Amino acid sequence: MKFNCHFKTLLLSACFSSTLLTSCDGEQSKVNKPYRAEILKFVPSSTTSGESWVVAEQELATLENLDTLEGSFFSMTLGGLIKINSNIGSLIDASSNSSPVRANLRYTTKNGVIVPRDTSTLLALSSYFAFEQTLAVLQESTGIDPNELKKNINGPYRIYFEPSLTEKVENESAFLTPKLNAAFNPESNDFYLFRRSELESIPFSANIKVISHEFGHALFKNSFNANSAEICRTSEEEINARMADKFFSGRWSNEYAISGINEGFSDFNSYIVTSSTNVFTDSLPRFSSESRSLTGPAFVFSQLTNDIVCSGRFYCIGTLFARALYGVAQSYKNRSDLMAFSRRVYTALEKSRENLRASPAKDILPMPSKEAATCIRRSKLSLSYDGAITSAFLAAFLQSFSAGEEKKNLCENLRNLFGNYGFSQEARIVCES
Ligand SMILES: [Zn+2]
Repeated sequence: MKFNCHFKTLLLSACFSSTLLTSCDGEQSKVNKPYRAEILKFVPSSTTSGESWVVAEQELATLENLDTLEGSFFSMTLGGLIKINSNIGSLIDASSNSSPVRANLRYTTKNGVIVPRDTSTLLALSSYFAFEQTLAVLQESTGIDPNELKKNINGPYRIYFEPSLTEKVENESAFLTPKLNAAFNPESNDFYLFRRSELESIPFSANIKVISHEFGHALFKNSFNANSAEICRTSEEEINARMADKFFSGRWSNEYAISGINEGFSDFNSYIVTSSTNVFTDSLPRFSSESRSLTGPAFVFSQLTNDIVCSGRFYCIGTLFARALYGVAQSYKNRSDLMAFSRRVYTALEKSRENLRASPAKDILPMPSKEAATCIRRSKLSLSYDGAITSAFLAAFLQSFSAGEEKKNLCENLRNLFGNYGFSQEARIVCES
């Protein structure tokens, strides 16, 4: 059965009950692999119409067991309990309960197709499908073989779907009402898709724009962080030694500017996977998060001390980085050229970790601040300190691009967006070769 339902606003329940009417005939029979299910799917804009959401029958190609939601690349736990230790935007340090209370899927079948019987099941399967779609373009968009990525993390990736949260508090467990939507835990390689809020018209948990952004964090870890979690943890004895070491282990996980670059790359990955320039449209229309959009109102690095210009703290640095990449991406009119650019971006990210240790980046990079050495992230930008870090990063990043039109274009975008503070004269030397 093919069922389409447009999903502009909160039509979920209306949409859903008509699905049940046509298929709730008690046929809970066996379904065969590859599984097919009715899920909520994003349809990118085309030359004839804008973006839309439909409920449609799709194959869950890598799902191996419908009862346990185990698959070759992703295994999903419904429910479960997550203890939050700290969170940095959508990057999170948390631990999960080893024996979570699992929820079950509720579905019926129609002609061998899984038809969800409740909203959670629809969204869980839709989210699984969105992860699969993100993975499906991985080889093309980064050059990495999905099997290699899986091997690097001793995969599959674990996805916690709508877990309960507790905050780490002495002797008590406080449940959070999270402002968080979705998150990636670089230490455990787990993804968390949090409970829906009434404000979301397309729930974050099923939104491929959000999921491909989160997956961007996993790719940043695999490339820039050389597949290491490198969580910064305070140790009083080490602080002085750290302040004298530009490359102490864990520095990048807490540096304001690098956190921003991580977010920006993730936004770029979301764009590459979905062709959409704003991660938050559809999900949070009531908060027009235009400043995070790749095509939103213009701002530059030196304005980022002003929250009115962009209120997203280090995310705003990420938006500048993503916008510079997007500016180049737009010059590629066909998909294979765009994907080739995306692979060069990924390779540059992979190499920039080493390039940071070479000239000119290592000379531009400031010694770690006391806060960085103490594993504390500032909540506000420091133009000179963070600007020196973005300058060093951009020099390291650009070094991997060969001379030509593309590098020229990228350098120009970065100059315009990061200015003299965020992309210093010393760093721009790499644009000349
Ligand atoms: Zn993020």
